[in-house]
Amino acid sequence: MSEPAKPPRPRPVPVPDPETAPYWDAANEGRLLLQRCTRHGHRQLYPRPHCVVCRGPVEWEEASGRATVYSFTVIRQNMVRPFRDLLPYVVALVDLEEGPRLMTNIVDCEPDDVAVGAPVRVRFDEVTEGVRLPFFLLAGS
Ligand SMILES: [Zn+2]
Repeated sequence: MSEPAKPPRPRPVPVPDPETAPYWDAANEGRLLLQRCTRHGHRQLYPRPHCVVCRGPVEWEEASGRATVYSFTVIRQNMVRPFRDLLPYVVALVDLEEGPRLMTNIVDCEPDDVAVGAPVRVRFDEVTEGVRLPFFLLAGS
């Protein structure tokens, strides 16, 4: 007699704090934000309370959502639910066209189709009820 299938386990989701809440709130609305130094324009992610170059104040700016793959790996083994149900999947570092580098997943593609330098674009997927996160697609897909 086989065991009944276990129900899907929800993905872990970010726990926003005052520094990161604007980023996650925007993602939930389908907008990708980055931070821009109000003194000299340096752009950065992940969110921090000040510019990492000059320690000046930062403001939020909407990114285009276009990026290129800087590096990636294909995860083929992960026994932890819910990720084992997603195998194989691509974890990547992508360079936003505005400059900051972001860790993400490249989704809805064959892992063998991902390449360093490939253009990608953001898409926001609901990973659990009420929580959308940014993922990237190969451009043209
Ligand atoms: Zn600065």
